[in-house]
Amino acid sequence: MKKVILMRCGELMLKGLNRPYFEKMLVNSIKKAVGNLGESKIIKTQGRIFLEPEFDDYDIKKGIRAVSKVFGIVSSSDAVKIPCEINEVIRTTILITEELLKQNNFSSFKIIAKRADKSFELNSPEICALAGGKVLEKFPRLRVDVQKPDFTIYIEIRESAYLYTEIIPGMGGLPAGTNGRGMLLLSGGIDSPVAGWMMARRGLGLNAVHFQSPPFTSERSLEKVKELAGILSIYCGAIKLHIVPFTKIQLAINEKCPLDEGTVITRRFMMRIAEALAAKSGCQALITGESVGQVASQTIQSINAINEVVKMPVFRPLIGIDKNETVDIARKIDTYDTSILPFEDCCTVFVAKHPNIRPLTKEIIKSEKSLNIDELTADAIDSIEIIDIEPAYIR
Ligand code: ATP
Ligand code: MG
Repeated sequence: MKKVILMRCGELMLKGLNRPYFEKMLVNSIKKAVGNLGESKIIKTQGRIFLEPEFDDYDIKKGIRAVSKVFGIVSSSDAVKIPCEINEVIRTTILITEELLKQNNFSSFKIIAKRADKSFELNSPEICALAGGKVLEKFPRLRVDVQKPDFTIYIEIRESAYLYTEIIPGMGGLPAGTNGRGMLLLSGGIDSPVAGWMMARRGLGLNAVHFQSPPFTSERSLEKVKELAGILSIYCGAIKLHIVPFTKIQLAINEKCPLDEGTVITRRFMMRIAEALAAKSGCQALITGESVGQVASQTIQSINAINEVVKMPVFRPLIGIDKNETVDIARKIDTYDTSILPFEDCCTVFVAKHPNIRPLTKEIIKSEKSLNIDELTADAIDSIEIIDIEPAYIR
């Protein structure tokens, strides 16, 4: 009896001719995610991927936690692998039941069998009936309950037999890096890390750009952004984090443009710079955490005025999502606690009390005439700092 991790991959199965490529990328992601946990083999079979530890005291629970963050894995189970032989299956079913009953006051159970190998002597209902019958014989206090059992034993018949009692949900999505790369506009807030994560789940690799305005923003707010990028990188792989000094631009806008247009003009600079850095670093799209109506700069008029300065597609995965749903995702992906740390953002420093929530693009363009856009933008791009964020996988 060997302990293994059994993993299920969902959407990959639909990928037709590209399937081997997606599977290869998925196996690479899994290897990286469990890289610190000791030697193991990753084995791909029809519809399943298995992790087989090379030594006995491998920490399967940690392994499950690691693979549960790998995009492309729909769910996983802590399973035992045994020879594909019905007496072995029955013996192991009884052993598992015995273990469970030692620790729990269970009174009902069910068996779900799946026969992927059709050459096996018994079909799925026969396996359930036979194994279930033996469990009932051995443990008379138990009864079968197919609706609401206290525990379930799953039996999968493949080249070997696999038995397990739990299915742990994964993140789903497509393997990291199978869909090009996007440049995430990463603030220190709740939304943008979630937006980046959502696009990464569709297979995008990420780079990130953060605008900071020292001395109005502190070193600690930069640390926060680095930490957020670090958390994201565990899902999507290494991130090039671009830090853009933004003080000069914000002071110029503050001095020369109508106060109520400040936010939209600021965002337009962010988008221009982000697009240039995206192109330079091999990204094909921009990603923001905008959501319609959430703040003044996210009315449909503001979004129009902001969008107008860039040609690259801008992905806004949170556009139609309520804040509480975003918060739920932030909690699930571990960015929430960092996002709520109370450090100032460059946008909050210069924000107007009564921003224009229906800016007209042509008015904005007129106001921007008082600024030397090309020079300000080029200056900022010349002074960026790039930080390589490497994922800190579980150890
Ligand atoms: P977040 O929670 O991501 O800060 P938000 O709801 O606070 O979003 P805004 O602050 O208006 O919204 O920002 C909208 C989007 O603009 C952000 O989601 C982010 O993508 C981008 N953004 C804002 N500030 C910055 C910044 N300092 N650096 C990089 N991107 C930024
Ligand atoms: Mg914000």
